[in-house]
Amino acid sequence: MHHASGTLYIVSAPSGAGKTSLVKALLEQVDSLHVSVSHTTRAQRPGEIDGVNYHFTERERFLAQVEQGDFLEHAEVFGNLYGTAQSTVEKTLAEGVDLILEIDWQGAQQVRKKLPYACSIFILPPSREALRERLDQRGQDAAEVIDQRMAQATEEMRHYTEYDYVVINDDFNTALDDLQAILRAGRLQRTGQQTRQSSLIGALLSD
Ligand code: GDP
Ligand code: ADP
Ligand code: 5GP
Repeated sequence: MHHASGTLYIVSAPSGAGKTSLVKALLEQVDSLHVSVSHTTRAQRPGEIDGVNYHFTERERFLAQVEQGDFLEHAEVFGNLYGTAQSTVEKTLAEGVDLILEIDWQGAQQVRKKLPYACSIFILPPSREALRERLDQRGQDAAEVIDQRMAQATEEMRHYTEYDYVVINDDFNTALDDLQAILRAGRLQRTGQQTRQSSLIGALLSD
């Protein structure tokens, strides 16, 4: 698979670390950046919109799509299936638009294997207590679901060593700035600049 120019970013974090809020804020500040809408079999939360937050789907349909090879990656997280549609990723990157995948560590491993140039970012909470508080304050998951997510957090965080960047989400705006810096540096990489600035470089180098 070959992509014209968009950069693929993988963002992982334990549930409640703030990745969805940070990515949402990032999209409002950075142009030419999209986020991939995952497919999932988990129940829709109050306020979530089908096709916006996720493509909510039945387990049977999800598995049929796995069979058809529709997913770039897929994984089971907290007993639910989550997957990234291959077609969206290809199309977005081919248009030269950068794309963020908000996926777990298992999905991140699968994507790196297929697309080794993907840039990956791990978001950590400032403490376990803060993580628990954010899961509680979000107020969208039942108590036993929150307990399960806290129990899984350590397993998810152990994988931070596989990522290119680590951002601590203590102060929200600082973490947002950090993410912007990563994206900005990504866009200044010589290989991308060679394409984007080809007319300037051509003019500068003609005799
Ligand atoms: P939240 O992270 O607490 O908002 O919880 P979600 O239910 O939105 O996501 C649950 C887990 O599934 C997280 O660890 C996500 O990283 C992961 N996840 C979400 N979308 C995808 C996906 O498309 N592929 C994979 N592999 N994991 C995903
Ligand atoms: P994730 O997508 O990683 O599960 P969310 O983006 O849903 O996490 O954030 C979990 C909760 O924590 C939300 O209620 C969000 O408003 C809150 N939150 C996110 N970042 C911060 C922060 N830096 N300080 C305090 N609360 C935060
Ligand atoms: P939530 O159910 O709270 O929306 O998401 C829980 C976790 O599922 C998130 O932390 C996220 O990393 C993971 N997740 C969401 N979508 C995908 C996906 O498409 N693929 C993978 N692998 N994980 C996902």
